[in-house]
Amino acid sequence: MYYKKRNMSWRITLASILTLGIIGSSMAAPIKTVPWNGHIGAVSFTFDDALETQVLNLKPLLDAMPDVHVTFFLTAYQSRLYENASLFAAIANTGNEIGNHSVTHWHLTQETDTELEDDVINFADTLESILTKHGVDIQVTSFATPFCENNDYVKKFINKRHFINRDGGLDGRNYWNTEPDWMTMKAKVWTRDGTTVKEMLTALDTAANIGISNNTNPSEAQITEGSWVIFLQHDVSKDSQNIYAINPDDIRALFQRAVQNKLWAAPFGTVGAYYRAHFAFDNATMTKIDGGYSLQWDIPHKHMPKSVPLRVRLDTTRIGSKTTIEQDGKNILPESDGTYIIEFMSQSLILRNTGEVSLPKASKIKQNTKGYKFSLYNLNGKPLGMVKDFAVPENYPKGIYLIRAESNGKPTITKKVVK
Ligand SMILES: [Zn+2]
Repeated sequence: MYYKKRNMSWRITLASILTLGIIGSSMAAPIKTVPWNGHIGAVSFTFDDALETQVLNLKPLLDAMPDVHVTFFLTAYQSRLYENASLFAAIANTGNEIGNHSVTHWHLTQETDTELEDDVINFADTLESILTKHGVDIQVTSFATPFCENNDYVKKFINKRHFINRDGGLDGRNYWNTEPDWMTMKAKVWTRDGTTVKEMLTALDTAANIGISNNTNPSEAQITEGSWVIFLQHDVSKDSQNIYAINPDDIRALFQRAVQNKLWAAPFGTVGAYYRAHFAFDNATMTKIDGGYSLQWDIPHKHMPKSVPLRVRLDTTRIGSKTTIEQDGKNILPESDGTYIIEFMSQSLILRNTGEVSLPKASKIKQNTKGYKFSLYNLNGKPLGMVKDFAVPENYPKGIYLIRAESNGKPTITKKVVK
């Protein structure tokens, strides 16, 4: 009897230790990703269709602006890729991205499974091998749909081989804490008869949270933070008969505005991977270990780039000032601004010399919205009616909405809400 009883109490103690462990690991880690790699916002310039004018006219501009890197979505349509492969290899060698825009540039929504396999999946491998032959070792991780045509069936194929896809339309803006649908990222599309260069320049101001006022269209209103804006371009030339051709001087002006506004002007796949990584890293699991804490997180997609450097910051209100960060057996030294660059793809890090980690302060997310009236809009700003709070009612279809809260004498709040 005596032994049995003792055994029982031991078991209870073990159970309570395990429970404590679980409680400990659920505490939010005192380290977070710095939005947009330390910039107020980001911009990705993307150029579709493997056009020779892009390389001929952009390469000199890009070579002169080391802070700007862009994405080329290549297709083998009209043998463009094969003719221009060495030019694209040279431009990829200087830090620009090569993405997949399908072999045939056909309407993916009309294709059979076999055609989708070829266009969407196999061509990513083909692109990698063609560019390897021209001396550049690249990883193709981004897709862009021809004609921006997409649906749920096509998305499944894209998702098998790419962690992100660009379509077109809307304002092309993304916000740090709103997780988008990675298989249908929107882009602001430039054409000679569509969006003007002036509007593109304004979009670069908006992304940097500059000069935004309280517009009447809620889809353009109440920008209170920087964002990531995605642009879609085609030819780069002075050919005014070609509605898809942007003048080299105009694209230079856009690059210059991006730099002047201190935006992170980086390829679609680079910003996309950083943005996607942060949703995983900022929810890392923290476990107490000897002399510190171990953090673990998941990789959100198996076709992320091999390396995703993430700029992170310690929450010094919750952690001792002697804290160090160790990853893959090495101490990571802070950058001059006190941030650290860690490797997201390593999936873990260790915090040492933390002292006692305090609980996070009550989050400010809960805004006091007493006395506010809430109206629901679709993404184009069409009013859909009044609602109770920042939640989309049950009877509305799944999608992204805007909810605008208004009150006399208090600032208007507009939020993008995903249902
Ligand atoms: Zn295209």
